Amino acid sequence: MNDAYDVVVVGGGIAGISAAYALGQDGARVAVVEREATLTAHSTGRSAAQFLASYGEPANRRLSAASRAFLDSDADGLADRAVLIPRNVLWVAPDGFDGHLQERIEANQVTVTECELLDVERTVAICAALDPEWLAGGVIEYGGFDIDVAGLHQAYVRGARAEGVTILRERGVRELRQQGSDWRVETSEGRLSCSVVVNAAGAWADELAAVAGAQAVGMRPLRRTIFTFSTSFDAEDWPLVIAADESFYFKPEGPGQLLGSPADEHLDGPCDARPREVDVARGIEAVNQATRLDIRSIRSKWAGLRTFAPDRVPVVGFDPVVPGFFWCAGQGGTGIQTAPAISTLAAALISGENPPEDVAALASLLSPQRFAGVAAVQLEGP
Ligand SMILES: Cc1cc2nc3c(=O)[nH]c(=O)nc-3n(C[C@H](O)[C@H](O)[C@H](O)COP(=O)(O)OP(=O)(O)OC[C@H]3O[C@@H](n4cnc5c(N)ncnc54)[C@H](O)[C@@H]3O)c2cc1C
Repeated sequence: MNDAYDVVVVGGGIAGISAAYALGQDGARVAVVEREATLTAHSTGRSAAQFLASYGEPANRRLSAASRAFLDSDADGLADRAVLIPRNVLWVAPDGFDGHLQERIEANQVTVTECELLDVERTVAICAALDPEWLAGGVIEYGGFDIDVAGLHQAYVRGARAEGVTILRERGVRELRQQGSDWRVETSEGRLSCSVVVNAAGAWADELAAVAGAQAVGMRPLRRTIFTFSTSFDAEDWPLVIAADESFYFKPEGPGQLLGSPADEHLDGPCDARPREVDVARGIEAVNQATRLDIRSIRSKWAGLRTFAPDRVPVVGFDPVVPGFFWCAGQGGTGIQTAPAISTLAAALISGENPPEDVAALASLLSPQRFAGVAAVQLEGP
């Protein structure tokens, strides 16, 4: 096997595989190196799989908007089924929290997403399980979608392979050493060389930076819990229902089943995140308080890490100090829905091509340059 590449991408989740595909399209010789046997073992395989245009910081929203065309095209036709499946979003609030609904209207005005303020009756007409005693009103946000995350990731794998990208699983990157203008990449299964290393290591992004001799940006891997439960409601066409203060959400997850979350954010270390009973219990309590779903038992549960930079904006660009070390990390809670735009930008910056205008305009906002000279936040234990 030829072990010399232009670019070695560390991490095979959605960030790494999408960047590899875009780089392959630009003609680069690319290898993706993933420690796990399954490329989607961590955050990518554990998401709530929602496209929510108004979600996150303004930069995230612009990235989401810039990603729509690729997602709408079913990943350049590489996916074998629809990547986006319509599912609107219903923000709900009890008395005293209706100010949050107004904030949602304002967020939608920024992203030009069509939305409507609803009274209790119309809100309950959309999701019959909501308890009118608890509810003060809702905002329906149109133009939301379920994302077929497995299908999208698989489409990127297919596309990357067609562009000649090598995908190496069960290979942890242990050491990164610069030799002249090249990198020597020591993995658990041998050595590779390349000109550019892409840090798509998700929750491990700061750890990988340390291995490369780069300064950490202070990534915060925040654990979020999800559980599924049965329902006798005819729920399949319900929107994603989310508390306007983000204290819980639930949405259909196949026939007779819903997925719920306390929308929690617990600081964790980079790890194989596990759900805690107390967080599942909090989620159940919050959903039961707002609805007549009367959850008594769950079918399954999991947790995943949403890894944020200190300003909750993704970090995409060459490290300001260590040459040839490229960041593609900190996607937080929008890494699936922003992957097309982020990967396009990453590939363009590495290949020296011009990215599309909407993406190019974000380059300076996302650059790791913004953390240069700022001491990284120390992670506390879980
Ligand atoms: C509960 C939850 C709900 C979410 N909901 C949504 C949603 O609805 N919509 C949305 O857009 N996003 C959502 N997200 C966020 C989204 O899942 C993440 O932003 C995205 O998956 C991040 O992708 P990634 O490739 O950076 O990380 P990962 O998928 O974690 O990939 C990083 C990979 O790097 C590998 N790696 C690390 N270090 C090394 C090393 N030294 N050598 C080799 N490999 C290494 C790891 O093994 C890992 O596989 C959610 C996340 C969670 C947890």
